[in-house]
Amino acid sequence: MSARIIDGAALSKAILEELRTEVAEMKQRSGKVPGLVTILVGENPASVSYVARKVRTASSLGFHEVQDSRGADITEEELLALIRAYNADPEIHGILVQLPLPRHIDEHRVLLAIDPDKDVDGFHPVNLGRLLIGGEAVTFLPCTPAGIQELLVRSGVELNGAEVVVVGRSNIVGKPLAVMLGQKGAGANATVTLTHTGTKDLAAHCRRADVLIAAAGVPGLIRPDWIKPGAAVIDVGVNRVGFNEKTGRAILAGDVDFAEACKVAGLITPVPGGVGPMTIAMLMKNTVRSAWKHLRGI
Ligand code: NAP
Repeated sequence: MSARIIDGAALSKAILEELRTEVAEMKQRSGKVPGLVTILVGENPASVSYVARKVRTASSLGFHEVQDSRGADITEEELLALIRAYNADPEIHGILVQLPLPRHIDEHRVLLAIDPDKDVDGFHPVNLGRLLIGGEAVTFLPCTPAGIQELLVRSGVELNGAEVVVVGRSNIVGKPLAVMLGQKGAGANATVTLTHTGTKDLAAHCRRADVLIAAAGVPGLIRPDWIKPGAAVIDVGVNRVGFNEKTGRAILAGDVDFAEACKVAGLITPVPGGVGPMTIAMLMKNTVRSAWKHLRGI
């Protein structure tokens, strides 16, 4: 058996195309476009590159896009004041603070300061609470879990009644994803097992999974004989396993032994080119959603 590869880059391109059309329609109807501010503190090279990608994508969709870069010596109070100013700015519908922040700034305080109705990352406790309630209560889904759900649905994977095993319980991926896929409703309604380092027999749980989602950050953790034949395998892990002298770039690998897993799985995401591009597409989708909500006054 050779698994069908889920092309996250192509799917995300299709979603961005849909959003571009929606933004043009918004502009035509209201004269407004979605506004997104990305706040970058300091010059961490990985953060600079992530922010550049977000800014490029937002611009290409026709957003009002603000990149607000501040020195690493900004005080916590100054940063909080900046966030309050963007909370009050009617042209801004989404506020992103690129993490990590310098040590002298309390990340939790900063994330709490963002207006939950502009929290397009979906990390604010209010939005995580809304996610837990589900249905109409949901405002923003966190971007990586939302991207994974969208990948599964658009790839035709049946989630209704499926056995889903999630490996990893972080607040940004594993935990919210487990809740989302276990909700009652379309594109969910699965029976979800959330596993972690305290799980007794991880292999046995994985072998039961119709949908196996690896988000542990451990290269090669998921062995091919842990995969149920024909299962959908979503590899969220992004691990630097070497450096390519020729390209000057890090060599990335997921949590799944990809080449071997392809012989057993029915569907699989590659790393890179699987979940990663979907995360950015979902961020843009959340911003467009936020803009519509603000325009409609809800
Ligand atoms: P994290 O905060 O690093 O936590 C890792 C989780 O995996 C923890 O819950 C940990 O269990 C569990 N874990 C670690 N080793 C394990 C093992 N041997 N067996 C079972 N569980 C294990 O997680 P994260 O921030 O969600 O990141 C996970 C991976 O996803 C990383 O490689 C990250 O780079 C990648 N990621 C990718 C994207 C994307 O857009 N593509 C987005 C976010 C993250 P305990 O709780 O027991 O410690």
